Amino acid sequence: MKPLVALLSNKCPRCNKGKVFENSIFNLFKIGKMKDNCSHCNLTYEKEPGFFFGAMYVSYALNVAESVIVFIVSRFIVNLDWFSSLGLTALMLVVLFGVNFKLSRMIWLYMFSSKK
Ligand SMILES: [Zn+2]
Repeated sequence: MKPLVALLSNKCPRCNKGKVFENSIFNLFKIGKMKDNCSHCNLTYEKEPGFFFGAMYVSYALNVAESVIVFIVSRFIVNLDWFSSLGLTALMLVVLFGVNFKLSRMIWLYMFSSKK
């Protein structure tokens, strides 16, 4: 399984079999609990206390990128006014909160996990 596919399908970075979150990354309505260990290879996901604080940087980058894309598309391609574009951008950030939370933790986990 390719790393990007495994990341997006919520699989363990070492074995690509066990799930990291109980729910799918793209489930908008349930964040779900993150598991402590992989059910297949027993990899501990939180390597040290506070390991996932760094995922905030990934989350920030994701949110900025999504905001810029939504704002530019709504303002300059769909031709909404400034206020509506900002409102749509804010709404998108609220709706995608759970996805960004899980995706940023998965990216952070994949950045610092080896296959061995
Ligand atoms: Zn595993």
